[in-house]
Amino acid sequence: MRGKKGLLIVLSGPSGVGKGTVRKAIFSKDNTKYEYSISVTTRNPREGETNGVDYFFKSRDEFEQMIEKGELLEYAEYVGNYYGTPVDYVRQTLDEGRDVFLEIEVQGARQVREKFPDGLFIFLVPPSLHELRSRLTGRGTDSEEIIQDRLNAAKEELMLMNLYDYVVVNDRIESACDTIDSIVAAEHCRRERVEKIYKEMLGVD
Ligand code: 5GP
Repeated sequence: MRGKKGLLIVLSGPSGVGKGTVRKAIFSKDNTKYEYSISVTTRNPREGETNGVDYFFKSRDEFEQMIEKGELLEYAEYVGNYYGTPVDYVRQTLDEGRDVFLEIEVQGARQVREKFPDGLFIFLVPPSLHELRSRLTGRGTDSEEIIQDRLNAAKEELMLMNLYDYVVVNDRIESACDTIDSIVAAEHCRRERVEKIYKEMLGVD
């Protein structure tokens, strides 16, 4: 459709809910319809991660310069490291009419909402607190105290769902991905969005 701008899709949710896993599953499909916005981070690359593919890995100095120059759409400090979204890529890709997909934590999502109220904000939740606990436990060898802290943080983060448009339960990865695709498809058909495009085409206000 002429004049059509891409949709900014933001996937977020509490720590340990599996945002990264769902995002990777969406982008491992050959026919994925979205453009993934690669974030900038100051954390060290993990084994198997590539600069410019998984993240743009930067020093704290470099990251702080990006903040100063206004090169980030949003950023947050998470577990001692900075994470942020380069703004130019997002704007250019949306202008080209393609949908951009961000997978970010909740503080960042809140900033994006302020700048892009037209975006589509999806909150991923665990099927139960019990399940969330076992996911946080399964991550590594953290002490009971740290797991409890993370769980408490995740409970608080769960209450942030009121900032989002849709809530998707991450019970099975495949079905969470399908639900997200359906939400995006429906969002493209929202009367408000389509009407805007037609008004532009017809030259009416
Ligand atoms: P990880 O270090 O495991 O790759 O990511 C840690 C957290 O940072 C995840 O919750 C992920 O969603 C979030 N994250 C990744 N990129 C960004 C970003 O650009 N901005 C924000 N605010 N969070 C991000």
